[in-house]
Amino acid sequence: MGANEALNTQASGQGFDVARVRSDFPILDVRVNGKHLAYFDNGASAQVPTQVINRLSRYHESEHSNIHRGVHYLSEMATAAYEQARSRLKKFINAAEDREVIFTRGTTNTINLVAQGFGRAFVGAGDEIIVSQMEHHSNIVPWQMLCEEKGATLRVIPMDDSGQLLLDEYQKMLNSRTRLVAVTHVSNVLGTVNPVREMIELAHAQGTPVLLDGAQGVPHMRVDVQDLDCDFYAFSGHKMCGPTGIGVLYGKAELLEKMQPYEGGGSMILSVSFEKTTYAAIPDKFEAGTPPIAAAIGLGEAAEYLESIGMDAITSYEDELLGYATDALSGIDGVRIFGNASDKASVLSFNIEGVHAHDVGTILNDEGVAVRAGHHCAQPLMKRLGVPATVRASLYLYNTTEEVDQLAGAIRRVQQIFG
Ligand code: PLP
Repeated sequence: MGANEALNTQASGQGFDVARVRSDFPILDVRVNGKHLAYFDNGASAQVPTQVINRLSRYHESEHSNIHRGVHYLSEMATAAYEQARSRLKKFINAAEDREVIFTRGTTNTINLVAQGFGRAFVGAGDEIIVSQMEHHSNIVPWQMLCEEKGATLRVIPMDDSGQLLLDEYQKMLNSRTRLVAVTHVSNVLGTVNPVREMIELAHAQGTPVLLDGAQGVPHMRVDVQDLDCDFYAFSGHKMCGPTGIGVLYGKAELLEKMQPYEGGGSMILSVSFEKTTYAAIPDKFEAGTPPIAAAIGLGEAAEYLESIGMDAITSYEDELLGYATDALSGIDGVRIFGNASDKASVLSFNIEGVHAHDVGTILNDEGVAVRAGHHCAQPLMKRLGVPATVRASLYLYNTTEEVDQLAGAIRRVQQIFG
């Protein structure tokens, strides 16, 4: 039995049938330059299964209307579907209550919501906010803006060369002025799965709440927000087989209740007069205006879809595939892989000696392989790694060992061209 066959058989033995999974994603049949499409840009946006596409169609065909305010049939249908999506997501991340799930436009929007809603209420001059060296710009810039506004300071947890955060340094940084720790659950560049449980315990010992950027966490592993005991968890629909334009803020109810609203407008109020406006209870307080109703419903369906396959099965399949891909790429002379943390999720960043990442990406595309090349919205991390850009292959549940072989073959082709 070849290595490919062995992996696929083993994975199927655990109840994971990658061929069956692939049949749910019609887009994977698209051919690129006459070649099989090997889609490895999942860290940017994952593909959408038929189940979600059909749910979106059904909504538009028979349930569409605005929610909450209507008294007619379609409005009731749309409202019920929207709130059912909230319940599905609550179950997916094991939040304690539906009202702890706020629909947003995505991770970036979620973090801005917390930076403003939490920041306005709790951050002042001389206070500190801690982020890490490996954050996406979405988990840096909103905090910088807040710090500038409030006269607070942003502190940065350093990392070692393998891509692991230095916990001793983190512990030294925590003090009575620390108002919030905001770290990524999984690095979008290195794949490092941070020891967030331990980091949360250390922050809580100081009475400091923690926000996890879960954009690359939730799509790939079982996330139980109560078990983690995080105070906020942010993620995007389009990285977990859902539509674009939708994301989630999970927040502990007691904190959300104390926060200021982020945006003002319809739906987030209890009463309005020119003298005084009072705000609605959570989650409505944070969902001003007409929300992305269809996208939220689609995201609820995506969560159901992933659960129907099983998050543990997905994680273990991806772990094996990552191991296979790491072996395949490290076996090629001149390929440098970035990030080898002991706990690593399905991201493989690399460079080919003597070739710019963008040129690599272009030639891989000629070979039918879709990757991302650039700074991955993590310029401070690129600086730490000492490179302007990397190529990133991010794996997901529908990728196969054959596609990894296609990637390895395409890398050899790049080397031939630039040889
Ligand atoms: N945080 C991380 C770790 C990400 O990987 C991304 C997207 O790549 C984001 C935040 C931003 O997500 P969005 O563009 O969906 O807001």
